[in-house]
Amino acid sequence: MMDVGRHPRIKLLTYSELEEVSGYVGNFKVKVRKKARYVDENECNACAECFKVCPVAVPDEFQQGFSSRKAIYMQLPQAVPSAYVINMEDCLGNNPIACGKCLEVCEKKCIDYDAQDEFIDRAGTFHPSHRS
Ligand code: SF4
Ligand code: SF4
Repeated sequence: MMDVGRHPRIKLLTYSELEEVSGYVGNFKVKVRKKARYVDENECNACAECFKVCPVAVPDEFQQGFSSRKAIYMQLPQAVPSAYVINMEDCLGNNPIACGKCLEVCEKKCIDYDAQDEFIDRAGTFHPSHRS
């Protein structure tokens, strides 16, 4: 995964879902939803200070629920990019009771509770012969 992230000819879209595919063989268009992480992946230095103060503990899906994670967390130790993410369904900051503890301790100030999903359009000339 890290090699893929560093490859000059690969654009890695993490935390993203394919929304729409149109076109035909040789001329595809895709729309990708890049889900809001609520943490700027370019600024986060993975210091984990936010993780330490987050009061939420929920079952960790990556560990099949055998351990817990916080509402702000790194999805897996080797995550690419090496940045934290907030699950807003778990976050107290998204409920009537505001929390905000993670933003208080984040020296990089790279947390944005109002972040929105982004949509990315890509056109490509994928052809079955490109497979290898
Ligand atoms: S405190 Fe800020 S910089 Fe540190 S891991 Fe959390 S979001 Fe990233
Ligand atoms: S605002 Fe949300 S993610 Fe941040 S510390 Fe509070 S509950 Fe955790």
